[in-house]
Amino acid sequence: MSKLAITGGTLVTPEGSFAGDVLVEGEHILALVAPGSWQELGFVPTEVLDAAGKLVIPGGVDVHTHMEMPSAGGIFSSDSFETGSKAALWGGTTTIVDFATQTPGHSLKEALREWEGRACGNSVVDYGFHMIVSDVSDASLAEIPEMIERGVTSFKLFMAYPGRLYSDDGAILRAMQVIAANGALAQVHAENGIAIDVLVAQAVAKGEVDPWAHVATRPSILEGEATHRAIVLAQVAGAKVYIVHISALEALDEVTKARDEGLEVYGETCPQYLFLSEDALGWARASGAASSEGSTDPFEGAKYVCSPPLRSQEHQEKLWEGIRRGDLSTVATDHCPYCFKGAKELGRGDFRKIPNGLPGVENRMDLLHEGVVQKRISLERWVQVACTAPAKLFGLYPRKGTLAPGSDADIVIYDPEKRHVLSASSHHMAVDYSVYEGMEVTGEVDTVIARGEVVLRNQELVAKPGRGEYLPRLLPAPI
Ligand SMILES: [Zn+2]
Repeated sequence: MSKLAITGGTLVTPEGSFAGDVLVEGEHILALVAPGSWQELGFVPTEVLDAAGKLVIPGGVDVHTHMEMPSAGGIFSSDSFETGSKAALWGGTTTIVDFATQTPGHSLKEALREWEGRACGNSVVDYGFHMIVSDVSDASLAEIPEMIERGVTSFKLFMAYPGRLYSDDGAILRAMQVIAANGALAQVHAENGIAIDVLVAQAVAKGEVDPWAHVATRPSILEGEATHRAIVLAQVAGAKVYIVHISALEALDEVTKARDEGLEVYGETCPQYLFLSEDALGWARASGAASSEGSTDPFEGAKYVCSPPLRSQEHQEKLWEGIRRGDLSTVATDHCPYCFKGAKELGRGDFRKIPNGLPGVENRMDLLHEGVVQKRISLERWVQVACTAPAKLFGLYPRKGTLAPGSDADIVIYDPEKRHVLSASSHHMAVDYSVYEGMEVTGEVDTVIARGEVVLRNQELVAKPGRGEYLPRLLPAPI
């Protein structure tokens, strides 16, 4: 059995940071001990990893990814479980929870089988699944207890995308009642899709077909309104609700208000909403303001098309504040990459046909650490929103998301000083552009250990192919 001693580093947990050594035996953490004391304790490691000057943190837990996901246009997101999970490791993430998606007319079981088939033997990180319920019916609701038994303990409903993933309020209420009765977690994509479709049709009729129209037709108040409605429906059903990918201050306000009232409401945001703005879609140019962008092709904005859309600077500031104050509980990526060439390009001349989604699974830990460098959040909060809180909410704690005896030895040795530039020329995601192209960040993953195995050493991937395991998840734990 391998025995690792990770020595000389600063251990970071949500409770605090301290000098200490981590002892690993087999797949688990054996003990956290005072620096250098393992020799006296008689621990004989098979390998010593020097973490002097570095941070030692739990492996990242990204609870919002879409690997190899079929989109409306029939094309798949460009990262497979293999390429996407490798990129995750490079970025310090050792666990992902991806979304299995029910196709209307088909069962939840079929969706789970399909996604298991894609991940099994391909993922190098451990993985679990949420279930997107796109066809709320007696038959699919009756499957929820079996899904929970199989470790799928969170169910996502869409207020957006009428005709495809959308459920109306009645369907959402019914689903939430069953989810609540079984102690599981309801997740909601909260945008008013019915109203958005009206605005989209009106924009197209006026000839507004460039990517910036994507922003113009999805105003932030429609995210706020839907978030409010999702919370009220959850309250009526007695369900715990988790609002995915919050981009708008109006949505954050609704979550904050509900939490102040003591409701079990949780909010997630994503790095793109913290670091990128709607200007990237050419919004400033289209609305007549001076633009500092170099690009002249208005279609370049397609690279930044995701839903909900990127917002203005004002929203970014509020979201950082939400993380600091604890009103936002987690930061996940919504990693859903589509290449510019051949995929995003399908929407040239009609923004409705641009596949929605951005790459990011590799960049999350670094971008949030950049938030630490910029003094927006503390080191401890970084670990909490990126590792511990997602593990707790999605039933993976204390196996994942923490440095504690008995937990899986998923550990990242992180160099907080190393500066590097984010770029498509150096990233490992299978996508031909980076939304953070040219951005310099301070802090980089050095070494990653997953279930006791060194899988990335000095930024070199040494993970055995397909080593990731399926994670049956427990019901959500309070955070
Ligand atoms: Zn998503």
